[in-house]
Amino acid sequence: MQHDVVVIGGGIVGLATALQLKTANPKLRLTLIEKEDILAKHQTGNNSGVIHSGLYYKPGSLKATNCIRGYNLLLDFCNKNEVPYELCGKIVVATSEEEKPLLNNLYVRGGQNGLTNLKKLTQEELKEYEPHVAGIEGIFVPQTGIVNYTVVANKYGDLIRAAGGDIRLGERVIDIQKKPGEAIVITQKGSYSTKLVINCGGLYSDKVASMTISKLNVKIIPFRGEYFKLRKEKEYLVKNLIYPVPDPNFPFLGVHFTRMAKGGVEAGPNAVLAFKREGYKKSDINFSELAETLAWPGFRKVASKYWKTGMGEMYRSFSKAAFTKALQKLIPEIQESDLVEGGAGVRAQACDRTGGLVDDFLILEDEYAINVCNAPSPAATSSLAIGETVAGLAMKRF
Ligand SMILES: Cc1cc2nc3c(=O)[nH]c(=O)nc-3n(C[C@H](O)[C@H](O)[C@H](O)COP(=O)(O)OP(=O)(O)OC[C@H]3O[C@@H](n4cnc5c(N)ncnc54)[C@H](O)[C@@H]3O)c2cc1C
Repeated sequence: MQHDVVVIGGGIVGLATALQLKTANPKLRLTLIEKEDILAKHQTGNNSGVIHSGLYYKPGSLKATNCIRGYNLLLDFCNKNEVPYELCGKIVVATSEEEKPLLNNLYVRGGQNGLTNLKKLTQEELKEYEPHVAGIEGIFVPQTGIVNYTVVANKYGDLIRAAGGDIRLGERVIDIQKKPGEAIVITQKGSYSTKLVINCGGLYSDKVASMTISKLNVKIIPFRGEYFKLRKEKEYLVKNLIYPVPDPNFPFLGVHFTRMAKGGVEAGPNAVLAFKREGYKKSDINFSELAETLAWPGFRKVASKYWKTGMGEMYRSFSKAAFTKALQKLIPEIQESDLVEGGAGVRAQACDRTGGLVDDFLILEDEYAINVCNAPSPAATSSLAIGETVAGLAMKRF
């Protein structure tokens, strides 16, 4: 069968894109191919489950615009499809005098991004929201919420199927052949001829993009984020979500506390180089993937510039005492014995040749494919907006 579109990747971005395409044109002949036996097994199924408000992102960036639009689309979707979520709000906490101006910048940025009702908090007011937190100033962000993104992604999948889209699980795309006017997507089980490929391969999005683009300028560097969980009897220490003021140089670093929609409270994550793209355990190593990371000129530049920060993250990965110390900055009462090992997620972070860690969402187009090559946080929150953007690019081709 000749397809109009083949989407690669059954994470939340691929699924949202397929859903937006079928919504825009129900007649599209669309198949989504996922290498795992279930949807949402990787980044989508191992994230913090936060519905981000759009507080942090540079005004006008794809992250900022898609987060706010995506936020509204997601809530609307959850309401219509009875997906449980909760808008519990979060606090961002400054714990030192140096962090106060950064906190204020965040407050201003939130306003620029259109967030109303942000509330500045004094030390006393912080305690009203989170009695166990130690901070000298804060912001309350009422819009922030929690949801289980695996449930959301599977719901997208149900609607794609109901609209006549095909979802193939357990099929890995191994090559794409370019033919005049069509692409042939080859998996280990068969081949699909299509007018357009949409690559939402997450941790392997660069590999898939290289199947149609000869000299790709970005590589995915996998960073593992490890979590601890609060013991049940210590969950009272955290009411909702508690975040530190992000370091502008490393906005994705900084451990925080998150009450999860599926229950429990997570503490973390850190960010360490993963020695395997889908390496969820410290012992997971894939030598050829690691060698590729180390050989990438951009990664070597990042490593030489930020090795100290990287070592700190690594140290916290191996030392529970150091991890606890980082958490104690926000909640001094937390003790090592209050924490049990949680899960881990691996972030797909695109890095260019010159050592730039790509901050914004990155979509690369060529004649045969639209490649979503950087979809870091808040891409789960933004999924329907990213899907809408990609679907819009695709529809221009038909
Ligand atoms: C630790 C962590 C915490 C996060 N917290 C949040 C949060 O709280 N809120 C938020 O909004 N965002 C959060 N994010 C970000 C968010 O989870 C991701 O941005 C989002 O899930 C990316 O979705 P995706 O579909 O691009 O990738 P993925 O979910 O990784 O999906 C990609 C899919 O492609 C498949 N695939 C790859 N190669 C092939 C191939 N060759 N053939 C077939 N299939 C293939 C993979 O198996 C995978 O299922 C977090 C991310 C991490 C890692």
